[in-house]
Amino acid sequence: MKDILGKTFECSCGKTHEVPDIEILETSIREAPDVFSDAFFIADLNTASLVDLPGKRSFVFNERRPLATMENVEKIVKASGDFPEIVSIGSGSLTDIARYAAYLSGKRFSCVPTAPSVDAYTSTVAPILVNGVKKTFMAIPPRRILLDIEVLRNAPMDLLRAGVGDIVAKIPARMDWILSHIVTGEYICDFVWDDMKDLLKEILLKSKDILNRERSAIKTLIEAHLVSGINMVIMGNSRPASGAEHMVSHLIEMFHEEKEEMPPFHGLTVMIGVFVSMKAYEALVEKKEIPLEEYSIEERRKELLELFEERKVEEFLKTYAGKKLPKIEADIVREPMESIYKEFFPHLKRTLETIDVNSMINSYSKDFLSKVVRLANTIRDRFTVLDVFDEMKILKNFSKIVF
Ligand SMILES: [Zn+2]
Ligand SMILES: [Zn+2]
Repeated sequence: MKDILGKTFECSCGKTHEVPDIEILETSIREAPDVFSDAFFIADLNTASLVDLPGKRSFVFNERRPLATMENVEKIVKASGDFPEIVSIGSGSLTDIARYAAYLSGKRFSCVPTAPSVDAYTSTVAPILVNGVKKTFMAIPPRRILLDIEVLRNAPMDLLRAGVGDIVAKIPARMDWILSHIVTGEYICDFVWDDMKDLLKEILLKSKDILNRERSAIKTLIEAHLVSGINMVIMGNSRPASGAEHMVSHLIEMFHEEKEEMPPFHGLTVMIGVFVSMKAYEALVEKKEIPLEEYSIEERRKELLELFEERKVEEFLKTYAGKKLPKIEADIVREPMESIYKEFFPHLKRTLETIDVNSMINSYSKDFLSKVVRLANTIRDRFTVLDVFDEMKILKNFSKIVF
């Protein structure tokens, strides 16, 4: 990855890609105050103990999992005063807080990831909760990323599982993108898959080693997350990293937020989505018979209202109405899926077992999850395998047999 950072190149997809110039250094986390000698640090109760933070230039959230809310961003904008840079010591949410606070106050931003759990570290956008609603803001990429493999290796087990869940999502996400390219003519780039697929293969083969906290496997995992984040920056959107599996995850996360509950770590709900996409592609490629059944818009509205307030439901339905689903021939979409299916799926299946996807599935009722599968393609204007099933009128029955 390091050889493309900061470069601009013409790609076989016809576009010129610009790769952000991020410096990645591998050293002990204890060096952070010296490495970022004029920066302001933010941490939480879990991560503050990893570094001897200079009291005058740091803020420690008095909780174990501070949320990326606008209030917390504003707190950091204020606390960071005249320091020219904000550095986060933590995982997803802390990184988002620091990134957006730095952007708003015109400062530089760097990060010290403490878990290989998400692909947000190298990203430029910041998902922030504004009055309980998640909004994704444009922000800035990090200037530097400090990696301490010892720290990453010792992250909580659920964050390691989540890290594997969020990274293997790139496999069905790629298939959804190819599908959309074929069916809707959406633009596609191969570079952002080619730079990722060998890392993904390695992770599938080493998933047990990751959970056993083996250094080289953890290194591969964090590298894959950094590359995935960069791929999104290169593309200017999350298409390479997020398909139907993320819509399933997003719906579950929003359901928790609606009830004012803390959702599970991102990658843990993503792994449920990966399971769903895997089953969908399996059915498609293996030509499984799924009985046809109409799923009317009235039924969709009724089921959405069982999960969300009316205002949100109408918003979702508007998004869904804007999706024009073309007529789809199963044979035309089946064939291009076969090579990824054969190469990755046997390993993907085993990996999902290793990270114990069943414990996540069993933490919800079957009825709820199958509703999520039926509704996931309503919430976002992005074409995926669930739209194919919707158009073929097999979505409803698929949702009943998937778990
Ligand atoms: Zn994700
Ligand atoms: Zn390209």
